[in-house]
Amino acid sequence: MRLDVITIFPDYLAPLDLSLIGKARRDRLIDLHVHDLRDFTHDRHRTVDDTPYGGGAGMVMRPEPWGEALDHVLAAGAADDASAAVPHLLVPGPSGVPFTQAMARRLALEPWLAFACGRYEGIDERVYDEARRHLPVTSVSLGDYVLNGGEVAVLAMVEAIARLVPGVVGNAESLVEESHEDGLLEYPVYTKPAEWRGHPVPEVLLSGHHGKVARWRRDERLRRTAERRPDMLAALGEDGLDAADHEVLRRFRAERPAVAD
Ligand code: SAM
Repeated sequence: MRLDVITIFPDYLAPLDLSLIGKARRDRLIDLHVHDLRDFTHDRHRTVDDTPYGGGAGMVMRPEPWGEALDHVLAAGAADDASAAVPHLLVPGPSGVPFTQAMARRLALEPWLAFACGRYEGIDERVYDEARRHLPVTSVSLGDYVLNGGEVAVLAMVEAIARLVPGVVGNAESLVEESHEDGLLEYPVYTKPAEWRGHPVPEVLLSGHHGKVARWRRDERLRRTAERRPDMLAALGEDGLDAADHEVLRRFRAERPAVAD
């Protein structure tokens, strides 16, 4: 998978040299290119922003360096791999569609992604209009809050996407039983010692009874999801739960009447 990131702070992306993603780059599973937007300016101050038309606070990123940077990414990608089509351009921003595990799964199947890290009040809208003439463009939000720039969002998105690329995470099974993979949060996990500072590991996990362990884990997932993310349970709907699940939730709600349906 090829990834191109355009930013005015290339150093912000340095953590992508570490850990599993760094190893995936060295193993050539991930081909990451970080581009400095200021390399596509032509004035002495390497200016990338200007005041907003219509007035108001803050600055807006000018379209010219973005246009040149995106042209460069397209040309560089095509030069490296003549069979490459075009990248899917992902633009982080608080007004984008929410980034989810399902979206990460879809994006992990794509051969080429490009990310445009905005700063200030964002990027001149015409950059997207122009890019859409050549590429798929998706505006993506990390959550309902405002960051200073797109770099932190790109770090999170690249990590979530890249770990789903086959070979990046050694044990592919560990990717299946995770929060958000099937509409529930993950169960609590424990390791040795069996008792620590007076806290024992739940007995069932020491029983060696696979059926009982599986049921306990499912129950814990349901309880945790009901407590922390009732919206996820609602989205699963009646059909996503069986009779045993409903019974667990009924008991949980009886114990914790404050938890909404
Ligand atoms: N004026 C913009 C608005 O209200 O929608 C916010 C701009 S924000 C200060 C600057 C940059 O941070 C954005 O262009 C985007 O790259 C990034 N950013 C901020 N919040 C984000 C979020 N929730 N998800 C993804 N990126 C975000």
